[in-house]
Amino acid sequence: RLEIRNLVRRFEGKRVVDDVSLTIQPGHVTCLLGPSGCGKSTTLRMIAGVDMQDEGTIHVDGDLVCDTVFRIPPERRAIGLMFQDFALFPHLSVGENVAFGLKGTRARKRARAEELLGRVGLTHFIDEFPHQLSGGEQQRVALARALAPRPKIMLMDEPFSGLDNRLRDDIRDDTLSLLKEEGASVLLVTHEPEEAMRMADEIALMRDGRIVQRGAPYNIYNAPKDKAAVAFFSDIN
Ligand code: ATP
Ligand code: MG
Repeated sequence: RLEIRNLVRRFEGKRVVDDVSLTIQPGHVTCLLGPSGCGKSTTLRMIAGVDMQDEGTIHVDGDLVCDTVFRIPPERRAIGLMFQDFALFPHLSVGENVAFGLKGTRARKRARAEELLGRVGLTHFIDEFPHQLSGGEQQRVALARALAPRPKIMLMDEPFSGLDNRLRDDIRDDTLSLLKEEGASVLLVTHEPEEAMRMADEIALMRDGRIVQRGAPYNIYNAPKDKAAVAFFSDIN
C-alpha cells in the first residue's frame, strides 16, 4: 500500500505540487489524470525518490520511505518504474534485460525472466537483442523488466504513448492483467481521459498541482465536479 500525505514541491516559488495526498491499495490501479504541466510527473518523481519534496511524507505498507529529513534511496524503495522513454539496454539480450535488477543464481534469474516473458508472450525472444524487436515488443519487455523484482509499487508515466491504437489497446490490457496478477499498487500518470477510464480502479483528477476530484472512473465521468473537469472529459468519444 502506497500512501502519500500532503506532498508539496516548489519550483521558483511556485507550488507545482500543492498538498497532494493519495492512498493506493495493493492490486489497485489509480490514474493520476490531468492536463500538461499540472504536476503529475513531478509527483511520480518524488515517489520514485529521484526528486525530493519540500513538505509531506511517503509511506509504503506503513513504513516511512521519505519525509523532509529522512530518505530511503530510490534503488531501495521496492518501486518499479515504467516511463514513456523506457530504454532497454541495447548490449544485453532480452532475457538479460528482464533479469537485470534481480539477485540470485544465473539459473534462477533466467527462470524468472522466462516466466515474465511468457506472460507477455515473448519467451521466444529471450536470447534476441532489443533492436530485433518492434517498439511494442520492446515495451512489453520493459514491462516484464519492471515487474521482475516483484515491486510492491509500480509507477507508470505515460507508458503507452508512441504506440499505434490497436497495439496500445493490446498492451494496456496485457499490462493490466499482469499488474493485477503481481498484486502491485499502481500509480499510472496520463493526460488522456480515455486511458484513465480504461485502466483505472480509481481516478485522481489533478489540476494546477492539486487533486480536485477522486473516485471510480464512471462516477467522475458522470458527475464531474466543475466546468474544467467537464471540458477535460468532453473529448472522449
Ligand atoms: P505533462 O503531461 O506535460 O507531462 P506534468 O503534469 O507531468 O505534464 P510536470 O512535469 O510535473 O507536469 O511539471 C509541472 C510544472 O513544474 C511545469 O510547469 C514544469 O515546468 C515545472 N517543473 C517541473 N520540473 C521542474 C524543474 N526541475 N525546475 C523548474 N520547474 C519545473
Ligand atoms: Mg509529465
